[in-house]
Amino acid sequence: MWNIACSERTLSLLDTNLKSGRVPHAYLITGPQKVGKSTLALNIAQAVNCTSIDRPCGSCTSCVKIAHGKHSDISHVYVAKDKTEISIEQIRDVQRAASLKPFEGKFRVFIIGNANQLSTEAANRLLKTLEEPPDQVLFILTTSKPDDILQTIFSRCALIEMEKPKASSIAALLEKSHSQEHGRAEYLARISRGAVGWAVDCCSNERLLARREETLRDLLRLEKEPWDERFAFAAELAAGYGKSKEELYDTLSLWQSVWRDLILIRSGESEKIFNLDIETELKESAASYTDESCVGAIKALEETWLRLEQNANPRLALEVLMLSLPWTHTS
Ligand SMILES: [Zn+2]
Repeated sequence: MWNIACSERTLSLLDTNLKSGRVPHAYLITGPQKVGKSTLALNIAQAVNCTSIDRPCGSCTSCVKIAHGKHSDISHVYVAKDKTEISIEQIRDVQRAASLKPFEGKFRVFIIGNANQLSTEAANRLLKTLEEPPDQVLFILTTSKPDDILQTIFSRCALIEMEKPKASSIAALLEKSHSQEHGRAEYLARISRGAVGWAVDCCSNERLLARREETLRDLLRLEKEPWDERFAFAAELAAGYGKSKEELYDTLSLWQSVWRDLILIRSGESEKIFNLDIETELKESAASYTDESCVGAIKALEETWLRLEQNANPRLALEVLMLSLPWTHTS
């Protein structure tokens, strides 16, 4: 049973591959951040190694070992913490391991996360293996930036395009596989904005919810603060960016969702908002903005994201953001 909120089309493609015994040598899973790409990759690794009939069963020794990261035939390849690319040395190690027969399962599986971060040399090296794939080896590449994948690699992989699942599918998954009671499953699904991976993580990690709330409160607080406080906060965010880029991108994305919610409230569609926990505050302030200023805020956040990705000075980029957001208190 697939443990993932994913389109029927994707799951039936995978089932067909498994039942026919024609598993491709490589899958490329694409889709937005936190949509469940890594979970699906792990599920596929389970499915090809599962010893039951209904694959992946999730309960045979092989499935359990893979879920706990204890299966010796499953390898994960990511950018090393202090690096910006997946190196050619890492791919050399993959090639060496791929030349060996599976140790305990049916397939050796190499999950290459954020495959857009392969260095050019590493990508070319991987391509050689994909061109002459060893038997009983499966590569699963994941990325949220398919345009950055070498076209020659792209064409060697079976493509799985994941989309943001509906809140109802996420809620059903949280209830069924993560023991969440109905109301909480629905709440988490809604505030996750389609990021099923985040919603699943929230089931076991309370800190994620606390961090989310803090990020929302920061924005509401800054609205009432003077400029020097906003610039001080920009400096704080910039310092944080040095430690965790992901956290800052999460903040920008969450703040974007606030302005999206304000537009919905302004157009009388408050039942569709994401950020239910600050609904009262949003309703109070919606009249203070115009639709144009909300759209402007969304664009400003998007541009900050792009500037950071293009290696702009983080502090400068965030100060420009503070100047661009449509604060109503400007004293
Ligand atoms: Zn199994």
